[in-house]
Parts: sequence; C-alpha cells; structure tokens
Amino acid sequence: MDTEKYISFEEEHCAHNYHPLPVVIASAEDVWVTDVEGRRYLDMLSAYSALNFGHRHPVLLAALTEQLSRVTLTSRAFHNDQLGRFCAELSALARHEAVLPMNSGAEGVETALKVARKWGYQVKGVSEGRAEIIVCAGNFHGRTTTIVSFSDDPEARNDYGPFTPGFVTVPYGDADALANAIRPNTVAILVEPIQGEAGVVIPPTGYLQAVRALCSANNVLMIADEIQAGLGRAGATFACDLVDVQPDIRILGKALGGGILPVSAITANWDVMGVIKPGEHGSTFGGNPLAAAVGIAVIGLLNSGELQARSLALGEHVLTTLHGAGMSGVKEVRGSGLWWAIEHDGTGPTGREISKKLLDRGILAKDTHTWTIRFAPPLTISEPDLDQALATIIDVVRSFS
Ligand SMILES: *Cc1c(COP(=O)(O)O)cnc(C)c1O
Repeated sequence: MDTEKYISFEEEHCAHNYHPLPVVIASAEDVWVTDVEGRRYLDMLSAYSALNFGHRHPVLLAALTEQLSRVTLTSRAFHNDQLGRFCAELSALARHEAVLPMNSGAEGVETALKVARKWGYQVKGVSEGRAEIIVCAGNFHGRTTTIVSFSDDPEARNDYGPFTPGFVTVPYGDADALANAIRPNTVAILVEPIQGEAGVVIPPTGYLQAVRALCSANNVLMIADEIQAGLGRAGATFACDLVDVQPDIRILGKALGGGILPVSAITANWDVMGVIKPGEHGSTFGGNPLAAAVGIAVIGLLNSGELQARSLALGEHVLTTLHGAGMSGVKEVRGSGLWWAIEHDGTGPTGREISKKLLDRGILAKDTHTWTIRFAPPLTISEPDLDQALATIIDVVRSFS
C-alpha cells in the first residue's frame, strides 16, 4: 500500500480527532523515522516531547524486554517488585518524598487537582465544596472533561459542557494578577513553567519565583505541569530547575515512559501526598511493573545530567543560529533547551504550510495556533544532524518571502 491508501484506510474507521501531516511512518530509530515508501525523516517533534531519548533507545528497549519476560501487569491489588524502586528513584530525581503513578498526562493532572482539593479541605481547612484552583490563560493540561473546563481554547472546549466549577483563570506570566486572584479558598495554582502547546511560551524573568513566593505566603500549593517541559527538554531535569523553583506538586508524563509506554506521575512531599488514603484514587494500569521498569531506565538516562546539559547547550546554539539568520516575516524565535518555536507575523505562511514544506525536505515538525511552528528534536540528536536541520529550516522559512 502507498501513503494515500494508508491514510484513506485510517480515515475510514478512525475518528477524525487529529489532522496529521501526510506521512505514514513504518519504523524508527533514534532521531530518524522511515515511512512506508522508504523515505527517511528527521523527527523534530518527538511526539510532543515523549521521545526525549529518541526512538527505541537501546537502554530502554533492554529494560522493556527484560521486564516483558517476567511480568507486565499485576494491578495494585498486589505489590510488584518494580514499583517501589521506580517511586524511590523518581522521588530522588524530583527531590520530593512520594510519587503517585498514573498513565496518561491528563490523568497525572487530574491526580494533582484531586490531591490539591483534598489537601485544601483536610489540611488548609477550606469549607466543603468551596476549593478554588487558579490556572493560566493559554494553558494546555490535557483532554478530560475537568481539564477542558478551564481551557480557553474553544476547539478543546466547545460543546463539552457542563463544565467542572472551581477554577479561576489569570493571564500567564503576570504575578500581580495571580496575587489579586488568591482568596481564602484558593488551594492551588496550576502552571506550566513553559507553555508548550501555546507555542513554547517562556514567562517573564522572575515569574516562577514570584508564583513560588505567593504560594508560600498564602498557604497555596504550587503545581507545576512539567509533562512537556520536564525530563531534560527545557535544558534541565525540570524547567523549574532553571530558575531554582521547587513546586509542591510536580506532574510528569510523556518522556517518563521513554516514548514506549504511557507513564505519568505526580511527585510531592508526604504533608501533601499523605491526604490520599487507600481506595480514594487509583488506576488499573498505574504503576504496572512494565511501566515502572521503563520508568526506572528513563531516570537512569537522566541521572548523570549529561542529556540536560546537552539540551541546554545545543538549545543556545539553536537560538543564536536562528536569531542570526535574518528570516523576514518572522515575529519571534524563542526557546529553552532543545525546544523552540518560530512564530510568523500573520502575513506570511501559516505554521501548517511551513511544516508541509519541511516534510517535503525530510523534517517532521508541527504547527500550533496557526502562525507558530514548534520544534523538539530528541535530546540525543547529533550536532551535524542539528546543524543540517537548522539550515533546512532557515531555507524553508526564507522560501516563503
Ligand atoms: C501533553 C500534555 C498533557 C497531557 O498529556 P496526555 O498524555 O496527552 O494526556 C498535559 N500537560 C501538558 C503540559 C502537556 O504537554
């Protein structure tokens, strides 16, 4: 079958909840993918940062196959011999005392919201049903009914009501607005340290430190959604580390499963995590031994700090190169680590048009919010491959002017 046939076959029976670029991938290794017609592409999206270590990293595959030959699923009705080690090592990485494992990122976010509300009632003393959580404009935290309740993206939200109450939206990056929104019933603020889906939006200097200070001063939990920004992507283990901020709850996902399995988790100290008692929250697959074994191997890849340092250094090289390239029609190039976006000024090509042309030139990347294209190559990308890709990106952007 050729590309067109695979695409129409998929469209016939698979819900049309995505609008993929016209490429059908058949195999992949590290930063390269091959389509059904044998064409090779450099993966500069990395499944929205789920593939921080590239496709099929040998260390992760080894952990996976080793565990596959022993046991894959126990449910939490019983203990398994991988979960304790996974939680211990993730706690150490996150500098928190405890971990609650889930699967998808959205479940991780839901878990954080539930823990924060319970903490609000049991520890802070908010009266029943009155807890408020502050969120930021332009956020992306997943697709569940509660999460889309506080999205301001009409595409993500329209016709999914009635919505979950108890959320208050403030502008992203505005610490004064946050200070004004905090009330006695506020239990938490949920924030992305860098907004990924919004187009790699980096908050003003001092913002995350101000969020931390406001939370501490007002007995409010700071929840950092590091699902896309964390695990090396932004140039540090966690994006909050770049500004020395330790949140009360950290949400991880995407790369935590090494691009192999959906693995998410929240991390927190016991004064917060301890509010969850047996039977009050859970997941059939959360903390399964296969996921835990892969997660342990992922943490192993991050423990030396080498990939994080690489991401930071190469990211600076990317921004210097792109800023110096003189691409007309480009409003802004911004990024952190190996994670950057090119935003057009609204007169030239759309992000979709650019990503289609990049596809023709052997690069996979994805547009977001019409005028922006976002890049997130695996952190394992070689310097020659990165430089080659940058030259192609500059050439493609220039070809529209
Ligand atoms: C992807 C993402 C999520 C949701 O993760 P899923 O695994 O798709 O449910 C939540 N928050 C952020 C910041 C994300 O990038």
